[in-house]
Amino acid sequence: MLEKITQTFGDIVRTIGGKASISEKNIDEAVDRIKMALLEADVNLRVVRRFVNATVEEAKGEKVLRAVSPGQQFVKIIHDRMVALLGDTRQDLALKGPDTVSVILLLGLQGSGKTTTAAKLGLHLKNKGRRVLLAACDLVRPAAVEQLAVLGAQIGVPVHRGDGKDPLATARDAIARARKEQFDTVIVDTTGRMQVDEPMMAELVRMRDLVKPDESLLVADAMTGQAAVDIAKTFDERVGLSGVILSKFDSDARGGAALSLKSMTGKPIKFVGVSERPEGLEPFHPERVASRILGMGDVVSLVEKAQEAYDEKEAAELERKLADESFTLQDYLDQIRKVRKMGSLKSLVDMMPGLAGQVSDEQFEAQDMKHEEAILLSMTKKERANHLIIGPTRRSRVARGSGTSVAEVARLLKKFEKSRLMMKKAVKNKKMAEKLMGGAR
Ligand code: GDP
Repeated sequence: MLEKITQTFGDIVRTIGGKASISEKNIDEAVDRIKMALLEADVNLRVVRRFVNATVEEAKGEKVLRAVSPGQQFVKIIHDRMVALLGDTRQDLALKGPDTVSVILLLGLQGSGKTTTAAKLGLHLKNKGRRVLLAACDLVRPAAVEQLAVLGAQIGVPVHRGDGKDPLATARDAIARARKEQFDTVIVDTTGRMQVDEPMMAELVRMRDLVKPDESLLVADAMTGQAAVDIAKTFDERVGLSGVILSKFDSDARGGAALSLKSMTGKPIKFVGVSERPEGLEPFHPERVASRILGMGDVVSLVEKAQEAYDEKEAAELERKLADESFTLQDYLDQIRKVRKMGSLKSLVDMMPGLAGQVSDEQFEAQDMKHEEAILLSMTKKERANHLIIGPTRRSRVARGSGTSVAEVARLLKKFEKSRLMMKKAVKNKKMAEKLMGGAR
């Protein structure tokens, strides 16, 4: 998502950001390119006009042309405008405290990712310490209830299923159950249809009046572009929205929806869906996304992701293993899987300052890691515990088992030994540095 636009913006920032002096012509050229990039990304024309006019007006003011580093000043204006476009500050969910039941209504068309998102949000809130109950009230799409039940079991969040006939009764019962069993959050997966229609809206209005939601969130498919904006408007007019969750943000759609939603509907994007898996939901931070688009990187999100995947105890254990050379292929496999959990390498690279948009998907297909994982999985436990026993016969067996070649297996083993050595040195250096620092204090 937003790759193309990130590339163009990153480019503009790199060329103009370093300029010691800029002219009105420089500004006009840059703004023209910005305009093109936004339009190509399918951003609503009115939104583009507003963005461009505001940027030009501010940039041509005295402040920029006479500033000490006008290039950077100009970049800052673009950045601030982009943040405003995306919705200024992060809008969190407004839920009540844990002694009452908060209700979240999830709305959306069929196929928008509503049911998947219900599970994602359930997991997100569970990880934040809330006691969540999912209510399966989409009785129109066949299998939606079953799908939610499966996802609920997967993430360890109970799912309330009614008689399969009456969505309103199911929601009401779920909330009563939540009160009785001390849940503090009920997420209601509502009816979705192929398109907005009157019976659907009428049911949703009744649902809203019945459950009195704390949050009414529309799940909108980012891949549908401008249509997502129109759908949001309609839902807001009829049912009332408190925010939007943009699903399939990991797709290669152009991203216009993300950039137009806030300006066109006034509703904040609260989360984005970034994969099909239950972990694939991220809070939407306008500031961070703007920085990412401008190629300034998103270091904060990166650190947060890394923290989620690693806890301190594990890190200390890893360090000990590296220091005393007991780091095995099994540990290596665990590490590969952790990196995977953090998302694709590509998405990590995109968050790094100066690198965003510079690496294409093809270049970064996690092919290597997949191969490595296959090779490691074709080894026996004993082999993973002690790589030294893997001689030529074992190597060819592993190559066959993993559908790779002996050369690839050998390469992995070599890489493993080399990185083991390197990491051991790094740990030693770190320890020495800590000692020195300690001594100096
Ligand atoms: P519903 O009809 O709105 O309940 O839609 P589903 O939850 O069944 O989702 C429709 C399809 O979109 C499923 O195949 C999901 O796996 C997929 N999906 C949902 N959210 C995301 C997302 O954020 N990223 C990706 N890549 N796929 C998603």
